[in-house]
Amino acid sequence: MLLDSVPPPEQRLDTMDTFTFSCHSGLACFNRCCRNKHLTLTPYDGLRLKTTLGLHSDDFLSEYTLYSLDPHSGFPIISLKMGDDPQKVCPFVGSNGCRVYKDRPTACRLYPLGRASGKKQGQTTRDTFFFRLDTPACLGVEEKKVCRVDAWREEQGLNPYIEINDKMLGILFHPNRVWTMPLNEGQVQKVMVSCYNLDLFREFIFKTRFLESFEIDEDTRLNIEADDAGLLDFAFDYLDRTLFPDHIGLVP
Ligand code: SF4
Ligand code: SF4
Repeated sequence: MLLDSVPPPEQRLDTMDTFTFSCHSGLACFNRCCRNKHLTLTPYDGLRLKTTLGLHSDDFLSEYTLYSLDPHSGFPIISLKMGDDPQKVCPFVGSNGCRVYKDRPTACRLYPLGRASGKKQGQTTRDTFFFRLDTPACLGVEEKKVCRVDAWREEQGLNPYIEINDKMLGILFHPNRVWTMPLNEGQVQKVMVSCYNLDLFREFIFKTRFLESFEIDEDTRLNIEADDAGLLDFAFDYLDRTLFPDHIGLVP
């Protein structure tokens, strides 16, 4: 999640910290939070959604997402396009709740928590933490059920999401990236295609002369040919090796 400001220390949670929350159809707010949201999608969110919807990644992007650039880093931000109706309802909400529940995005799984990661200039390791979101209209946080952060992570199926999202953070916080310089158009294009438009990336790998200049072993080739998760994993490796050539400079 790209944040406008750093959550204050009192909102931060360690993995053993607890919070109260229960979301169910008996609450007056049921389904009302799935609207009018800026819901950022990670590359893995996009992969899961386009797969469950049975769409080519190009069609998924044009039908369900909005595109913008982070003004500081220049990295693309892909977010879920809310409905055109006055309430801007999420396209996936149904009367019984989320229609893509088993493949719902990271932010929906985390709610009522967020997860942030940051690195100050000169710092070598990232500071990653969970935090409580501001949830003014959510009645679920007033319920009695006590949840522990690490159990919540497990229960919501967050572990594979976090593991893959963290690889994207490895690109965002790449040691060769010049923090004062946003990505140029070519770099944006590389991130967009390799991370968010996986079907196009696969075509680019196998239908152009890509493999003549980018060496990959046979196992990796078979993996990226058959499996989107393997292809996304390769995308991070590709970006790690090509997005920030050494000559651009090192992080100050
Ligand atoms: S994807 Fe599902 S859980 Fe997330 S906002 Fe839409 S309907 Fe709600
Ligand atoms: S507002 Fe909170 S409790 Fe109500 S449906 Fe949304 S997440 Fe559940």
